[in-house]
Amino acid sequence: MKTEPMICQVAVPSPCFNSFDYLLPNTLASHPDDLPKGIRVLVPFGRQEKIGIFLGYTSSSSLAIEKLKPIIAVLDNHSLYTPSTLTLCQFTSHYYHHPLGDVLLTALPKRLRQPVHHLTGSVTITQKGIDHIPAINRKTKQYQLLRQLHRACSTLSYQQLQETFSNRTLNTAMAQELIKIQSKHSSNHVKMASYTSKRIFQAPDFTLTSEQQHVVDMLKRQKTFKTFLLVGVTGSGKTEVYFQVIQSILAQNKSVLFLVPEIGLTPQIIQRFQARFNLPIAMLHSGMSSQAQLTDWEKIKNHQLLIMVGTRSAVFTPHPNLGLIVVDEEHDLSFKQTVGCCYSARDLAVVRGRIENVPVILGSATPSLESLHNVNTKGYERLNLTKRVGSAMTPQLKLVNLRGRKLNRGLSSPVIDAIQTHLDQKKQIMVFLNRRGFAPKMICHDCSWIPICTQCDLPYVWHKHLNRLSCHHCGATQPLAHICPQCDSSMLWDIGCGTEKIETQLKKLFSRANILRIDRDSTRHKGSFNKMLEQIHENEVDIIIGTQMLAKGHHFPNLTLTVVIDADHGLYSQDFRALEHLGQLLVQVAGRAGRNKDNGEVYVQTYYPRHPLLQTLLKKDYHAFAEYLLKKRYEATLPPYSSAALVKVKSKKLNDACDFLNQLAANMRQQNTHALDITGPFPAPIEKKAGYYQMLLWLQSTTKQQCQHGIQIITEMIKKNKPPCSVRWNIDVDPISMSI
Ligand code: ADP
Ligand code: ZN
Ligand code: ZN
Repeated sequence: MKTEPMICQVAVPSPCFNSFDYLLPNTLASHPDDLPKGIRVLVPFGRQEKIGIFLGYTSSSSLAIEKLKPIIAVLDNHSLYTPSTLTLCQFTSHYYHHPLGDVLLTALPKRLRQPVHHLTGSVTITQKGIDHIPAINRKTKQYQLLRQLHRACSTLSYQQLQETFSNRTLNTAMAQELIKIQSKHSSNHVKMASYTSKRIFQAPDFTLTSEQQHVVDMLKRQKTFKTFLLVGVTGSGKTEVYFQVIQSILAQNKSVLFLVPEIGLTPQIIQRFQARFNLPIAMLHSGMSSQAQLTDWEKIKNHQLLIMVGTRSAVFTPHPNLGLIVVDEEHDLSFKQTVGCCYSARDLAVVRGRIENVPVILGSATPSLESLHNVNTKGYERLNLTKRVGSAMTPQLKLVNLRGRKLNRGLSSPVIDAIQTHLDQKKQIMVFLNRRGFAPKMICHDCSWIPICTQCDLPYVWHKHLNRLSCHHCGATQPLAHICPQCDSSMLWDIGCGTEKIETQLKKLFSRANILRIDRDSTRHKGSFNKMLEQIHENEVDIIIGTQMLAKGHHFPNLTLTVVIDADHGLYSQDFRALEHLGQLLVQVAGRAGRNKDNGEVYVQTYYPRHPLLQTLLKKDYHAFAEYLLKKRYEATLPPYSSAALVKVKSKKLNDACDFLNQLAANMRQQNTHALDITGPFPAPIEKKAGYYQMLLWLQSTTKQQCQHGIQIITEMIKKNKPPCSVRWNIDVDPISMSI
């Protein structure tokens, strides 16, 4: 009886198709059931070899069987996904219009995505290999390889063999099925943890407020899928609520996925977890080595660890018995991936909750307009924590009108006085400015020449302590010429101010205070950020100057004054979301002050004190502010009252980018029988970056379905009429910013 060849579907990262067909290697043909869905396989791909994910068998292929190539090697024994995470990846690929192979690999820790030479596995010679030995030229590497394996009579590790043989020799032998590799990775026979019996939770030394208790009770009652939007003002004890709910999940021997915005915050939250739970916590973020990432990921996969705290990509971690998903600071922009597959980890967390049928908590003091809108339309349940715990009061916001006022290098006199007062009271002060460097621009006082980055056509930022100019868009740096190249003048002046300048000025004004600057420049060394945070907690610092890094999540009990140097950036922006983000930032920054019994004060310097946004925040609160913005979005039919996508294009040749998008827009408009609004093409807010011109096309529709349909058509158009090779394109579904 002639057996049908087994055709394997493999998802390989490639821009065009979701899966490719391969033949099962002969070595496995007699046990085809051995291949579980979701393992990695090495396959020939064009002239390269790529890692793909095995998706299952199919009985027919669109290609002739003779054209199909066999899989080179099977790299895992067990699936790297749970059925739910596999479904989540499929959803992601479909919804964000991104190739499945790419999504599946993105969902894995870096280590498992890397080329095969990082494999740990054992290699054996096959019967075919043994039979083949006499036929090979004795001078070849392949002969030596097979001899060595045959003589060894047992297995040799891949790494051992790599010392003598090239990857090419090894892979060719594998492709010809002369040898086979068995990966040791991810064996499932590990003892699983059971924490139900142990005392793992350390009760806090305070009792929950009645608000907290109510919210905890509501959340604990929920056993199936439901999304909660936990809106708690800063300092209202959200984290404690999470902990209490997590405790009840662990007691059922289920695990928890806890997503946080960025690595800057993970160490603090990990410390708080550790103070409360007597068990190790798994982490996943870009600050870890790839080996450490893999180790933690595997422990979650094997149910040896039950809590995973991680950034964006942790939404794909394969928890076998998930009980709860938490997204902390759900409004944060860093949950959205902006290159490659532009997924929102917050939105995928909700999708995963639905797939796994578990509750999802989205928490924030400043929830996104999307989530607020979803409370009204998608059945998210809103839970509120309206009061700060203890006797702490919400800090008072004061606007300082800069118009006509004399500034002391960026600082107004009410602000200087307030700093002095809080210093006298031995309190801490945070000065917030979201701009690194000394000055954002230099100018020649005589001829008005400005040093600009020619790759981005934007001014260089002056970093005084590095003595360099640096472009904040592409990272290029160069020394500052102290003479103007245009007119030989030595009058080069700096305009505007960054954190370094404020630091210098504060040191001058308050020479006895301990002043610490925290931004990406001052925290470049590993561990330095944490050391600085410790210094603040130990009260070794009086004044902290910080950027966005300090705005969120931190809890500094002794801090009573926050100063916002410049609130105006974002008030008048071409990006319709800028106001939302500015409001969130201001409220978050303000929330750092007055977390203890001492009342906090917040000073906000602005040239536009009458701006309705600032007035609403001042006189009312974030809630009123969000309502105001939602109303504006409704009137303009902007998201969340419509669904949008951006086609992002970049090219070194401006014409190519324009022509391509113009053509695309024209075709779309012509074919467009459905309600899809097409705006553009127009240049991105940063028109040129690192030599690439950046152009956008905005697609918008009143319903998600129509928008999805439109994106479908446009991606097919692009695949059919490929852009010139100078043009790179990507599609951002539900974009949250116009930046590329
Ligand atoms: P949020 O995340 O809402 O800004 P946190 O969870 O950081 O607030 O809580 C602020 C501080 O209050 C933390 O030190 C926390 O331990 C403490 N805390 C939380 N709940 C209570 C409570 N019921 N009584 C006293 N202190 C509390
Ligand atoms: Zn000049
Ligand atoms: Zn640049």
